Amino acid sequence: MLRALLLELAKSSRLRRRITSHGVTRRMARRFVPGEELGAAIEAVRACNRAGMTASLDHLGENVVTREDAERARTAYTEALERVASDGVDSNVSLKLTHLGLDLGDEFCVEQLRIILRRAQELGNFVRVDMEGSAYTDRTLQMVKRARAETAAVGTVIQAYLYRSEEDIRELLAIGCRIRLVKGAYNEPSQIAFPRKKDVDANFIKLMKILLSSRIYHALATHDPKMIEAATRFSAEQNISRDKFEFQMLYGIRVDLQSQLVKQGYRVRVYIPFGRDWFPYFMRRLAERPANVLFFAKNLFRGAAPAA
Ligand SMILES: Cc1cc2nc3c(=O)[nH]c(=O)nc-3n(C[C@H](O)[C@H](O)[C@H](O)COP(=O)(O)OP(=O)(O)OC[C@H]3O[C@@H](n4cnc5c(N)ncnc54)[C@H](O)[C@@H]3O)c2cc1C
Repeated sequence: MLRALLLELAKSSRLRRRITSHGVTRRMARRFVPGEELGAAIEAVRACNRAGMTASLDHLGENVVTREDAERARTAYTEALERVASDGVDSNVSLKLTHLGLDLGDEFCVEQLRIILRRAQELGNFVRVDMEGSAYTDRTLQMVKRARAETAAVGTVIQAYLYRSEEDIRELLAIGCRIRLVKGAYNEPSQIAFPRKKDVDANFIKLMKILLSSRIYHALATHDPKMIEAATRFSAEQNISRDKFEFQMLYGIRVDLQSQLVKQGYRVRVYIPFGRDWFPYFMRRLAERPANVLFFAKNLFRGAAPAA
C-alpha cells in the first residue's frame, strides 16, 4: 500500500517542487544521489574504482516533453562518456528512453540514442537502456533491438516482476543482447506483474539461471542477499567463473554487501545517478524500503523544527 502510494506521489509535480526546494530533503537525497553535477558523480565513480568496483553513470531525468530537453539529455550523456574517457575512470552509462524523448516519437528518440551509442562505441564504452514502467516496455525493447542490430555497445534491463519477462529474455538472448536483471521498481497491476514479493523473487531466480547459462555477460542488479546467494551458488554449481557476470547495486545502498562481494572476488558495478531531476528516483528508493520513509520523515521533522 505504502509502496503504491509513494510511486503514485512520484508523479506529482507539486510534491516534486516542494521536496526538491527544501534544504533538508536535498541533503537527504545525497544518500542516493552524490550530486547534481557531473563532477560530483565522477568523484563517486573514482571512489568506487578505488574500492575495486566499476560504475554506471545515470544522468537523472525522465518523461521530457520538449525536444530541447531531450537534446540536452543526449548532450549530457555524450559529455559523461567523454569525461569518463578523459579522466580514465571505469564507468559506463545508464539512460532512460523517456529522457531522450520517447514521448515525442520513436524516430526522434532512436536518433538521440544512436548519437550516444556512436560516441560510446568510438570510446570503447557501453550504454545500458534502463527499463521504465510497463507503458514503455514494448517500445523500449523494440528500440534496443534496433540499436543492437547496429552495435554491441548497448544492453537493456528486464524486470522479474513482469509475467512477460522470460519470453523477452529469450528474444534478447537470440540477438546476443546483454541484460541487467532487476526485480522492478514501478507500480504495476496484477494483470501483468506478480503482486506478491515471493513470486517476484522466485521469478528472479528462474531468470537469473537462464541468463547465467547463456554465457553472455549479464548483470544481476539486486541488494537482496537471498538473490545474491542463489546466484553465487548456481554459478559455482555450473562452473561459471566470477568474471563472467557482475552484480550491480545502487549508490548508497548496502555498501557493506558491495565490498563483501568484491572481497569474495565477484565483479560489482555501482549505479551512480546525478543531476537536478532526482525527485522520481528518490521516491522510488523510498518506496523500496518502508524504513527509508520513517528515516526521511524523522529527519524532515528535525530539520524543519528550528524554522517553525
Ligand atoms: C543497478 C540497478 C539498476 C536498476 N535499474 C532498474 C531499471 O532499469 N528498472 C527498474 O524497474 N528497476 C531498476 N532497479 C531497481 C530494482 O527494480 C529494485 O526496485 C531495487 O533494486 C530493489 O530491489 P532488490 O532487488 O534490491 O530487492 P528488495 O527485496 O527490494 O530488497 C532487498 C534488500 O535490499 C535493501 N534495499 C533495497 N532497496 C533499498 C533502498 N531503496 N534503500 C535501502 N535499502 C534497500 C534492503 O536491505 C532490502 O531488505 C535497479 C536496481 C539496481 C540495483
